[in-house]
Amino acid sequence: MPNPFTYSENEREKIVKEQKKQIKSVYKEASDEIKKEVKKLKGKNNVSANERRNYLKSLQKEINSYMKNVDTKTEKIINGNVDKMISIVFENNNQFVNSLGFNFDITNTVIKKEMVNRIMSGSLYQGKWNLNKAIWGDNKAKQIEISKIISKGILKNKGLYDISKDLERYVNPNARKSYSWSNMFPGSRKKVDYNAQRLARTTISHAYQESFVRATINNPFIDAYRWITSGGHNVCTLCLDRETVDHYGLGPGIYPKDKLPLDHPNGMCTFESIISMSDEEIIDAVADWYLGEGDEDMNERIEKFVNDLKNF
Ligand SMILES: [Zn+2]
Repeated sequence: MPNPFTYSENEREKIVKEQKKQIKSVYKEASDEIKKEVKKLKGKNNVSANERRNYLKSLQKEINSYMKNVDTKTEKIINGNVDKMISIVFENNNQFVNSLGFNFDITNTVIKKEMVNRIMSGSLYQGKWNLNKAIWGDNKAKQIEISKIISKGILKNKGLYDISKDLERYVNPNARKSYSWSNMFPGSRKKVDYNAQRLARTTISHAYQESFVRATINNPFIDAYRWITSGGHNVCTLCLDRETVDHYGLGPGIYPKDKLPLDHPNGMCTFESIISMSDEEIIDAVADWYLGEGDEDMNERIEKFVNDLKNF
């Protein structure tokens, strides 16, 4: 049987790609506006220390407000994409289940809501982490970095315009910041949208994984899952280990359904269902269950699966 979740996997890749652009463009918009503000300060390099402080104060306030807007939008983008990802996986599962010979419509609004909530509220991480906190924590970090760029500029007695140009560069998602930037502003990020992008990608990855497991864990025809790395370049040793080592005596990279580990931040790995029965055997089993014949244990498992689906 070909991987029944290929569709979801492809959609996941599309969402991740699109999301990256969405977030980048939110940063770019803000950066363009800030650029306009900075332009107004051209020729004002030699203002008095007092004036410089006042100008910088108001510029800082404005940049912070733009960044607040950026983070509000980023959170909304991720939220929308989580919703989309989960819907796609469940929809895909519906089709898969129907292809196995079950014939009913599954409306999964309740479980979908539950799933979105599980991802967004952080209950997936036992409350130790949640997206909202992470985004606003990062907003705070940006504010601190912005403030440090200003104080460093003043310390080095840079002109008003030069300090503003540093700020402009900081918020530009397309600016290339080299070693000298980190030297001048230690601890300041090289890519302004890096953290947002990492949070976004990780959240989609976990939304995919969680909904995939939720949709399939009770499916009696799926025996286990196989870990699959994104392949080729940049695969870390942890993921390579997950793909190649036989951790449970089921074969290399194969996990019992309740033992699939959560991918790490920025992870791009995926999973496959292991189905040992042939299409024909599955269809026969479904028919037996329907008629109340055949293997009792299998019928019980199908019953449980169907009841779970109905509760979707
Ligand atoms: Zn990895």
